[in-house]
Amino acid sequence: SSPVSTAADGEDRAVEAALRPKDLDEFIGQERVREQLSLVLQAARHRSATPDHVLLSGPPGLGKTTLSMIIAAEMNAPIRITSGPAIQHAGDLAAILSSLTEGEVLFLDEIHRMSRPAEEMLYMAMEDFRVDVIVGKGPGATAIPLELPPFTLVGATTRAGLLPPPLRDRFGFTGHMEFYAPVELERVIHRSARLLDVRIDADAAAEIAGRSRGTPRIANRLLRRVRDFAQVRHDGMVTKEIAAAALAVYEVDARGLDRLDRAVLHALLKLFGGGPVGLSTLAVAVGEESETVEEVAEPFLVREGLLARTPRGRIATAAAWEHLGLTPPQGPPH
Ligand code: ADP
Repeated sequence: SSPVSTAADGEDRAVEAALRPKDLDEFIGQERVREQLSLVLQAARHRSATPDHVLLSGPPGLGKTTLSMIIAAEMNAPIRITSGPAIQHAGDLAAILSSLTEGEVLFLDEIHRMSRPAEEMLYMAMEDFRVDVIVGKGPGATAIPLELPPFTLVGATTRAGLLPPPLRDRFGFTGHMEFYAPVELERVIHRSARLLDVRIDADAAAEIAGRSRGTPRIANRLLRRVRDFAQVRHDGMVTKEIAAAALAVYEVDARGLDRLDRAVLHALLKLFGGGPVGLSTLAVAVGEESETVEEVAEPFLVREGLLARTPRGRIATAAAWEHLGLTPPQGPPH
């Protein structure tokens, strides 16, 4: 997969455990969420109570799993980690809920992808700390109520709007995670470099940060690729020049665009004069499925102000011409 993909691959998962900040003070950026969460946790500690359920919304790789672990650590509580897609039957959820201990944190990633029956069971568990376990089938089936110890659910979702309102309303607090500013990513990179024993200078950290798409997971992955390059081709020290040369090898450009992103822009500019052009025509031109172009490449290009989706089709912005070093046909378009 692309070095700037937000999905965690095997290597990410192995290294991420070592790179995760352990408490709120170590967690970089997200000032608002951190302050809000810190109040929720302090208040709960003050009352010797289990904190309210917490919903974290935001794109992958921004630190939702990390924050859930921090919540557990700050409360001195154990944590159980699962995800919506892993809970297909209400029974799967009942099994997890009934084995929770008092004060435990249950992290439910991709909570919007849970099955409907499981979701309904969760409503009652969140509100009344109770589940009805159905025993038997058909007319003879009976619901046996089961008391649960108080626990804290931490749900994560890419967008809070994806959740049905009754579920959303049962969270006491929702933290909206934002993409990280380049200076914050520089701090993430310096911190990870320290933990991984990588020597890196300030300009190099800034260079990597600028290509990391506002996402710590990507920053950490690019740092590892740059480290490999520095160790194999140089003496291990990471400078700006070495970072740029390494990322050129991995086809991540100065703004964090990868090969597919650039292919889409290139086709849009060179073949269609900057658009407007329909999605399927554009996809055929780059030899990809429409869904790949729409879901993998376009969100970042739109966020970066390089491409716009209009009712008449996709158009390139003036910034896109500039980024690829091309001159628009007649004056800057749009
Ligand atoms: P998500 O659950 O939102 O997909 P993760 O919590 O798994 O994201 O974070 C991905 C990686 O980025 C982890 O290695 C984590 O250590 C790192 N990370 C995320 N947020 C921060 C942060 N604020 N400070 C330092 N590292 C971070």
